[in-house]
Amino acid sequence: MGNPINANLELLSENQILYPFDLMPLPYSYDALEPYFDALTMETHYDKHHRAYRNNFKNFYDQEVPAGTSLMTVFKHVSTYNTNTINNGGGFINHTIFWKLLTPNSSLAPIGDSANSIMNTFGSFDNFKQQFHAAAMGRFGSGWAWLNMAVDGSLFISSTPNQVSPFMDIAEQQGLPLLTIDVWEHSYYLKYKNLRADYINNFWNLVNWAEVERRFQEAKKILSTK
Ligand code: MN
Repeated sequence: MGNPINANLELLSENQILYPFDLMPLPYSYDALEPYFDALTMETHYDKHHRAYRNNFKNFYDQEVPAGTSLMTVFKHVSTYNTNTINNGGGFINHTIFWKLLTPNSSLAPIGDSANSIMNTFGSFDNFKQQFHAAAMGRFGSGWAWLNMAVDGSLFISSTPNQVSPFMDIAEQQGLPLLTIDVWEHSYYLKYKNLRADYINNFWNLVNWAEVERRFQEAKKILSTK
């Protein structure tokens, strides 16, 4: 597993979010992902949880981070900041990535070069889904499962606790995220109660594979320019 700390994370699209780090609008309505993700969960998740992460992060950034420091510069060195900045900064950026990876018009299967890379790495789309599902189920408590690109261009699945992102220097396995699922209970408890597996199974109906492909091409470009 390579170390993307040497990759130029400044080129990641998320790094174009500038101070004061306003929330991006959701790219669809709260009820657009019904029946898989319900409208009340989406509204609460975006307008309460994500907004709180953003507001708290901005406050801690104001206290801790030199003005003008880019988001990715913070995350590359996030271990030097306090836990509040890590948790809220991660919460802010992880949800920003997650919303764009969902769509009511999913192709239901990978497309483009990322599809070839997923097939070559995992043998089949079903195998990939099984391993991603296992990572999402295996995360005890709160966190995320990820498909990432390592610095050598290979793909790997990981999970992170709490609000850790794969590009943070504290991530156990570091990489550039291509796909993710939020497995905090606030993502699914209103509709699915304790049934995380059902939530993950329905997630596959909503994956924006065009966005996965866009992230794949962006990651390849970033790794080729370091
Ligand atoms: Mn969440």
